[in-house]
Amino acid sequence: MKIICPDCKKTAHLEDDFSFVRCSYCSLDLTYGEYVKYIAYKDARYSDILSDYKNNR
Ligand SMILES: [Zn+2]
Repeated sequence: MKIICPDCKKTAHLEDDFSFVRCSYCSLDLTYGEYVKYIAYKDARYSDILSDYKNNR
């Protein structure tokens, strides 16, 4: 299954049994569980940036 790589935004590959996420562009190589945490972590940081932006206005 093709997914968006969280690092380089290119096409990464999720194994059909959801075991691994791999990106050939930036050599991302995570288990699916790690991938989900990675996405959540990135989203949290992005939300933090947005709230900082609002607070500073
Ligand atoms: Zn990548």
